[in-house]
Amino acid sequence: MVGMTFGYGVYVCHGYVTFSLLSHEFRHVQQYEQAGSIAAYLPAYLEQVVTVGYDNAPFEIDARAHERPDR
Ligand SMILES: [Zn+2]
Repeated sequence: MVGMTFGYGVYVCHGYVTFSLLSHEFRHVQQYEQAGSIAAYLPAYLEQVVTVGYDNAPFEIDARAHERPDR
């Protein structure tokens, strides 16, 4: 994991900034907005990851679907 998003805070490890990663993380920002708050989103996100795993979590599948290719 080289990127993490908390609300409007997008954190990316130094040297790993790519267009595809940023577009993925910005989709998580939109997911936070749709949930209404960090407090509403984060428990739902973590429950998905715990129950079906990171790769199969619906929020992750959605974020991957909105990744834009690197140039
Ligand atoms: Zn993600």
